[in-house]
Amino acid sequence: MSTEKKKPVSVITGGAGFLGSHLTDHLLREGHKVIAIDNLITGNLDNIAHVRENPDFSFIEHDVTKYIEVPGNIDFIYHFASPASPIDYLELPIQTLKVGALGTHNALGLARAKKARLLLASTSEIYGDPLVHPQPESYWGNVNPIGPRGVYDEAKRFAEAITMAYNRYHGVDTRIVRIFNTYGPRMRPHDGRVVPAFITQALKGEPMTVFGDGKQTRSFCYVSDLINGIYRLSQSDEVNPVNIGNPREMSVLEFAEKIRELCKSTSQIIFKPLPVDDPKIRQPNIARAREILSWEPRMDLEDGLGTTIDYFKSLIDKGML
Ligand code: UDP
Repeated sequence: MSTEKKKPVSVITGGAGFLGSHLTDHLLREGHKVIAIDNLITGNLDNIAHVRENPDFSFIEHDVTKYIEVPGNIDFIYHFASPASPIDYLELPIQTLKVGALGTHNALGLARAKKARLLLASTSEIYGDPLVHPQPESYWGNVNPIGPRGVYDEAKRFAEAITMAYNRYHGVDTRIVRIFNTYGPRMRPHDGRVVPAFITQALKGEPMTVFGDGKQTRSFCYVSDLINGIYRLSQSDEVNPVNIGNPREMSVLEFAEKIRELCKSTSQIIFKPLPVDDPKIRQPNIARAREILSWEPRMDLEDGLGTTIDYFKSLIDKGML
């Protein structure tokens, strides 16, 4: 019999997405076997092409709003499946609600059956258009349930509620991360989010579209910092939600100017209407992550944006953009 230690088995729903694919890389590096599940409505096989031949990796094309069947032992489930950009969830409102509700229910059912630990990818959208700044985990939020963003916000709020219910009533081992704006390579060029939008516009010399007056704020975390925090949370004992994000806050207009400068672009900045219920301010309070996970974001905005700009440049060079 082999004396080799058995590798932990991790399932990642949304494994072909931006975050899911980076988490896949991280877990493979940590010596896990990874099973990625994705229905590819917003995920992309290109994101996981480099690991398809890895014997520790497998891929299942499946919609997790339907019963999830995975043979064998599972130690961890990372539930990341969901449309996640405002444009995506405006175009896919029912799928967004279903994956947050039915998909989370199925993922929890799988965790219960396999006695696996489940980590839910939640979001700063839980806080809606916040009336408390920066946002600590204790803040209950200010969400419009019937607005266009409600499909995502309420699905994630339901997902948190059912995760805690499975923890309390079925004893399922759970973790909840509240993810703030994250950026990096493998973001979808046309997902409408501010980072891919501004970078592709700046690189192509097209007008950069600032929504509203650009005074609304966001705080951007580089993907490797986020994944590191999520991994630490998955290894910790913390059942309550934990914010992971970078507290460096700036206005969207400042952000546009920063990207234009880093891209050495001469694009014009133009103003477009502000989307309905667009949060006016957002900044994570990360005291809990600092204390419990000894976690801190490390990547400078300029360096992280530099790497991300290089990624989009390479897509342009390959004629993919
Ligand atoms: N935004 C913008 N121009 C764009 C895309 C987004 O000014 O082309 C703004 C958007 O209105 C919001 C911020 O940038 O205030 C971040 O938007 P994103 O879609 O990236 O994510 P959100 O933080 O709103 O979920």
